[in-house]
Amino acid sequence: MGLLIKNGEIVTASERYVADIYCEDETITRIGTSLDAPPDTKVIDASGKYVFPGFIDPHVHIYLPFMGTYAKDDYTSGSKAALMGGTTTLIEMLCPSKDEDLLEAYALWKSKAEGISACDWTYHMGVPRFDDKAREQLSEIIDDGISSFKFFLAYKGVFNLSDEELYHALCFAKERGVIGTAHCENADLVLELQKKLIAEGKTGPEWHYHSRPPFVEASGTAKFLTFAEATGAAAYIVHLSCNESLREVMRARYAGVRAFVEIVIPYLTVDMSYAELPDFEGAKYVMSPPLRHKRNQDIFWNGLQQGFIHTVATDHAPFDFKGQKEMGRDDFTKIPNGIPSIEERVKLLYSFGVAEGRIDLNTFVNCASTQAAKIFGLYPRKGTIQLGADADLVIYDPNYEGVISQKTHSMNIDYSAFEGWKIKGRPETVTVRGELAVDQGSFVGTHGRGKMVRREPCHY
Ligand SMILES: [Zn+2]
Repeated sequence: MGLLIKNGEIVTASERYVADIYCEDETITRIGTSLDAPPDTKVIDASGKYVFPGFIDPHVHIYLPFMGTYAKDDYTSGSKAALMGGTTTLIEMLCPSKDEDLLEAYALWKSKAEGISACDWTYHMGVPRFDDKAREQLSEIIDDGISSFKFFLAYKGVFNLSDEELYHALCFAKERGVIGTAHCENADLVLELQKKLIAEGKTGPEWHYHSRPPFVEASGTAKFLTFAEATGAAAYIVHLSCNESLREVMRARYAGVRAFVEIVIPYLTVDMSYAELPDFEGAKYVMSPPLRHKRNQDIFWNGLQQGFIHTVATDHAPFDFKGQKEMGRDDFTKIPNGIPSIEERVKLLYSFGVAEGRIDLNTFVNCASTQAAKIFGLYPRKGTIQLGADADLVIYDPNYEGVISQKTHSMNIDYSAFEGWKIKGRPETVTVRGELAVDQGSFVGTHGRGKMVRREPCHY
């Protein structure tokens, strides 16, 4: 059965126009005015609404053993929450620890999603060490359709790799047309600053920031980009949080490095003062890098509009307040890191970006969908509306007004970092390859219908 969406205002990264979209066999097959369709076609009137390409969240954690516990979402709740928020494709961080076999980890992570996910997905492959065996195993993983690596410069002894390994891993990435994504903080400095603060009795969540100040991130960013410059590999800085790091990226780009910048929705909407909330409430706002001073937000909005910040992700990593965040009540270094937002990213970006005039509609689509598709080898199958593209579509009602609350969200988490916040607009109808996943704001998706999307290497 085909699907016909009539009279919506189609918005891509570069265009805005009113037209009808006809989808058949999972793809967009016609775009035009006054389209007609066979009698068994499902017809949706999108008059007065926007039609966006399905949104892509390029930085998500779902299966995540971390800091002695596990993140709360699985693909049942996580893919539903993604779709309710308009995200039709997510890129999960596949994070093996140092002593884990890479192929076994790859199979384990895939088993958590296959047959369960309601949305499409793919992975950034974590590289916690690099030797001949890792090279062979990573080759197989690339051949299976994964074309990005994730490196940690932070989390010393758990995920991070030596300078020698990083160099050789990036040479390999360059050779295979794989982009290197990295969490950039100086691991040794973080560890020493944590020890110092705890020894001084500074144990509350408000001290998390001080263990990872902007210069610690800027130094990690500069280091990673230096390795990218030395090897010629393309570099993608995940969750860049401050102006100091952004300056390092600009410097590297001047030097010819192919460098891309991701920020996450919490950095655009909440700031370090939230981690200072009393009664341990601040723990809800602990992530790494930490929330920064509010003055960074204007720079980020401008960066998105001007195009030198490329993507807006979430770094969705859901840990309950009760029982999980609480593990760090007497020691902020034991608070599991993460501000869950996979469900709210698009609505927050629209409400605080588009509706408040900080970014225009095309930029909104670009940074929440198109850029991620282009950088990670999904474009134009994903990330835009054109003939032959997957029929992943979001009909967005800009006039809807709602309130974010833990009581109504689909994420499997006992709090919302944005509790009570008013939002403008919502994804009213969402399709995954031509099939309805959200209808009039209600989830109607099919678990197990999501597919791992194969990505080809890109030579940047
Ligand atoms: Zn992350």
